Amino acid sequence: EAPGRDMRPHSAAVPGIRTIIAVASGKGGVGKSTTAVNLALALRSLGLRVGLLDADIYGPSMPRLLAITERPRIEDDVVHPVEQYGIKVMSMGFLMQEESPVIWRGPMVVTALMQMTREVNWGELDVLVLDMPPGTGDAQLTMAQQVPLQGAVIVSTPQDLALIDARKGLKMFKQVDVPILGIVENMSTFFCPHCGQQSDIFGHGGAEQDARRLGVPFLGAIPLHMTIREMSDAGTPVVISEPDGIHARHYRDIALRVA
Ligand code: ADP
Repeated sequence: EAPGRDMRPHSAAVPGIRTIIAVASGKGGVGKSTTAVNLALALRSLGLRVGLLDADIYGPSMPRLLAITERPRIEDDVVHPVEQYGIKVMSMGFLMQEESPVIWRGPMVVTALMQMTREVNWGELDVLVLDMPPGTGDAQLTMAQQVPLQGAVIVSTPQDLALIDARKGLKMFKQVDVPILGIVENMSTFFCPHCGQQSDIFGHGGAEQDARRLGVPFLGAIPLHMTIREMSDAGTPVVISEPDGIHARHYRDIALRVA
């Protein structure tokens, strides 16, 4: 842990929450939310008490990924997260219609995120996983500064473009003294469901090389696989639907490295 972090005035601990981990990416569409949800469920399968905060304010996906139709309960002005598959979940998506866009400026986003982190009754958690908005804008920077993050997991595809963006994300966290827990290479090798052949659609090994070069841990590669997408769309992420399968094992390995 970086020295002096606890002395930063804004990142006071959130009572009841032992650690907060951010899952971030330099750009959208690389599988950040897919990784965040499966990582949260994998941490739960290790016996930890887990919360998941969908901080992807412009494109909240947790209600769909976790098949949640319920809304958070409000009692005596206190918001209680929704429980699904043994984890506690909060999402901007609970507060709006699926098809209405959030047209907010940075400061409003930050305020909403702070409230969802600090003013929600999370109870006792071993770990709160934050699915961050993609990119390195104002909202992300402020979040990284004002939430006491244990560290950040950066998700990238092996492709150059995504990697360059991921490197920017990495730099942002370094700038605000948030330790990088490591890089996950998502959409790595593609396994054809018909013939079983492997192909590296977005290249292969790019994230691992980058991690080595940048001196941050490589947390593992998740293949580009139809089942991962299908199970996410069905609201039963692979860690839930196929807990003994190969994909769940990948996510569990990552969970063990960041837990
Ligand atoms: P992001 O949060 O970075 O925008 P998502 O997690 O929403 O990305 O993923 C984008 C799309 O890619 C989704 O349809 C998701 O199901 C799919 N996807 C993500 N990771 C994988 C993977 N490893 N294999 C197959 N599909 C994936």
